Amino acid sequence: EELYRIKGWGDPYFSINAAGHVTVSPQGDRGGSLDLYELVRALKQRNLGLPLLIRFSDILEDRIQRLNAAFAKAIARYNYQGVYRGVFPVKCNQQRHLIEDLVRFGKPYQFGLEAGSKPELMIALALLDTPGSLLICNGYKDQEYIETAILAKQLGKTVIVVLEQVEEVDLVIAESRKLGIMPIVGVRAKLSAKGIGRWGGSAGDRAKFGLTVPEIIQAVEKLRAADMLSCLQLLHYHIGSQIPAINVIKDAIREASQIFVELAQLGANMRYLDVGGGLGVDYDGSKTNFYASKNYNMQNYAYDVVAEVKEACEERDVPMPTLISESGRAIASHQSVLVFDVLGTSDVIAEEPEPTTDDDHLILRNLYETWQSISADTYQEAYHDATQFKDEAISLFGFGYLSLVERSRAERLYWACCAKILEIARQQDYVPDDLEDLEKIMASIYYVNLSVFQSAPDSWAIDQLFPIMPIHRLDEEPTCRGTLADLTCDSDGKIDQFIDLRDVKSVLELHPLVRGQGSDTNSEPQTTEPYYLGLFLGGAYQEIMGNLHNLFGDTNTVHIQLTPKGYQIEHVVKGDTMTEVLGYVQYDSEDLIESIRRQSEAALQERRITLQEAQLLLQNYERSLSRYTYLTS
Ligand code: PLP
Repeated sequence: EELYRIKGWGDPYFSINAAGHVTVSPQGDRGGSLDLYELVRALKQRNLGLPLLIRFSDILEDRIQRLNAAFAKAIARYNYQGVYRGVFPVKCNQQRHLIEDLVRFGKPYQFGLEAGSKPELMIALALLDTPGSLLICNGYKDQEYIETAILAKQLGKTVIVVLEQVEEVDLVIAESRKLGIMPIVGVRAKLSAKGIGRWGGSAGDRAKFGLTVPEIIQAVEKLRAADMLSCLQLLHYHIGSQIPAINVIKDAIREASQIFVELAQLGANMRYLDVGGGLGVDYDGSKTNFYASKNYNMQNYAYDVVAEVKEACEERDVPMPTLISESGRAIASHQSVLVFDVLGTSDVIAEEPEPTTDDDHLILRNLYETWQSISADTYQEAYHDATQFKDEAISLFGFGYLSLVERSRAERLYWACCAKILEIARQQDYVPDDLEDLEKIMASIYYVNLSVFQSAPDSWAIDQLFPIMPIHRLDEEPTCRGTLADLTCDSDGKIDQFIDLRDVKSVLELHPLVRGQGSDTNSEPQTTEPYYLGLFLGGAYQEIMGNLHNLFGDTNTVHIQLTPKGYQIEHVVKGDTMTEVLGYVQYDSEDLIESIRRQSEAALQERRITLQEAQLLLQNYERSLSRYTYLTS
């Protein structure tokens, strides 16, 4: 079975090479590949510190090609009388370089953009210059938003204003009259087909966005009365991101197709059907995990969309519409990899215990006897005994009957029992439920140079799983088990859910920081060889939703593009400096430096500091302000 299930979630972009390093094949099976570990080393030599977000532009291009190829194949297979014009929802990743790449790579497919807010509209209007592509305007709209969108039609762009709220109908009619421009209008339907998964609440009658069927009819009548029914050309729905099951996708498209043909028969000039997002990403390669995987692929998705719309249109003799999807997660997730280093570990001390003597406290003798008795027949019972004795030892200590040194011995005996039990339990086919926590109890904590809040907010906020694994030493057995703790002073700043071959696991298999050392030793790392981990598939939503908890700022980012000779660094976007993050919370660096200078002068006067020390402090302070917010190794 392959390591970290990399084939399941990483194919065709990520794999492991003979050197035991992660390999990136940004063009999938079609092109060359890069050794991720060597790439990180080369980037570090260029002064790009970790954590480092590496974007592979070719992966982005490949995703766009795949999605378009899937729809082209489906259209050909069903002899569908219409085209596919995808749009990228800007909300998934608004970074300029990425959107510029996306527009460029999307040109052959007339790939467009979707804006969900006024600032996103500003981006989309300025950057989307592909003739024939669509610009879909979603989200809450005010008069200014609608006016801008309608006017932009005059630039030759196909801007479609999607009505998401009943009030927007009157606004669009009023703006259109005022400007004398007939806009292209869409309606977002609240389907009754239910979404499922983490974002399933996006559908249904009580969903935040969209018009119920009675509201859609009301909108049709208002547009008819304003002599603008011909403007209504698009039907949109979105049943939630990351839909895990294909039957849910089918139910939604079936319902939407019926609404579409009905609208056409009511007199609207229906030309576009926009199926929103929802196309899932397989984060764990399981094909079954409800929250992290999906039971279909891109091609099944395209087949189902095309087939259902065709059937509904043929039955009612309605022209087949241009199909639009707003897949963001499926386009942007794979293109970035976050690489970060491990700063140190905290391991459970589990060495062979010294025998107890008759002079030792009874509780210590009990624990030692338990340790001695552990075997394949007794390990489950022994675990309960050891836990009970350890709890007793702690309460004896609380009442003053056990010294601090004795308590320390009791705890070490307990860890020794756990280690011995775990070793036996791991050899069993079936691990009893009550022992499941043991792996977690015995796991080391790997301290990582990263803020979960900044770089993987969904992992913290909604327990989203992302594949995480070492990017090197993969030819070496990962003998340790660990959870990850980030740099923030927040106990939620951790990752303790990982993908496993069968299920979600609470520990990750990792290597000891010192090569060849087992997990049962507790020594400081004696080597300076760094240990690098990668977090994969985080290219959608994570960057923009990341926050500045503890003032850890944006990470360094590089864009890498394959060339015939290897690769080239297209762009470097330096991560936030301390001055920058402090500026976000209204501190001025100059003022801060001035405060330190004044305090140093006062301390000098009182001879609490030497001139040399004061100079050093000030230099350090000033230098730090221009530095990266993460730790430098
Ligand atoms: N379209 C709309 C209206 C959305 O709200 C979203 C996100 O939830 C998307 C598209 C993107 O969907 P996905 O993340 O499934 O690609």
